[in-house]
Amino acid sequence: MVSVPTEAALQVVLEDYLAQCHGDPVHVAATQAYLKSMTRKALRQYRRRPIRNIKKEIDLWNELYEFSCSKTPEISGKLIREQLRMLLEKEQNYQCCYCRRPLLNAKQIEHVLPRSKCVQHTFNLFNLVICCIDCNRRKSNNIWSVKEGEFTSEQQYPAPEAFDDLYHPRFHNYNEHIKFIRLQSNHHNISIYKGLTGQGKNLCANILTHLSKKEVFVNGNPDLKEYITTITQHAADMNTQADKAIRVFQAAFACATEELLCDL
Ligand SMILES: [Zn+2]
Repeated sequence: MVSVPTEAALQVVLEDYLAQCHGDPVHVAATQAYLKSMTRKALRQYRRRPIRNIKKEIDLWNELYEFSCSKTPEISGKLIREQLRMLLEKEQNYQCCYCRRPLLNAKQIEHVLPRSKCVQHTFNLFNLVICCIDCNRRKSNNIWSVKEGEFTSEQQYPAPEAFDDLYHPRFHNYNEHIKFIRLQSNHHNISIYKGLTGQGKNLCANILTHLSKKEVFVNGNPDLKEYITTITQHAADMNTQADKAIRVFQAAFACATEELLCDL
């Protein structure tokens, strides 16, 4: 029997986040009001989608990042995201939500239901988690579920029970779904995963098995491993030229390894 949180438990988590959505209690109410306005914007985009060209839409997640309030400089999109990232990281015990490896500097706020397909859930707390760059790349805008059509077309966020073929990091207990072994020596790190449920097997097939292969590949190339580690440790969720260049490199490297490893 797979356990999922009750509605009451989720409400407690939500209230807890809203009470801490700004590091300074003085700015909590205004930050909540701003987040509510962004949620309304996301819903408007969702409602217009059937008639609007998605490519011409404003990227609301980016808009949040760029937001700054001239009257109250203490409230900015950058600070809101930093606060959110800090709380999520703590909740996840500083581990990636999918592979459970320790989060290094490159930690992405990931949308479980991708915002490109489910814009209505862009600011839904239960759709947000932190994952490593490898899992983020692999996950991309995929929804590995037969219910993809339902998830993308409904305005309300799906109940935990609806994720019966897709692992959801906020709703599922990792240990019930995935078993993993991590071996570490002076020079190598190897992770092996086994799916215990339908959701766990799905996650292994789409992300974790590939990740294991990539680790073996990179570990077998000491120079490559050193360069990748350096790049990973310097990658940040910023918008500088260097950060953009690093992201382009990471995407190209992910594609190259994917092609190389797909038949193994
Ligand atoms: Zn990961």
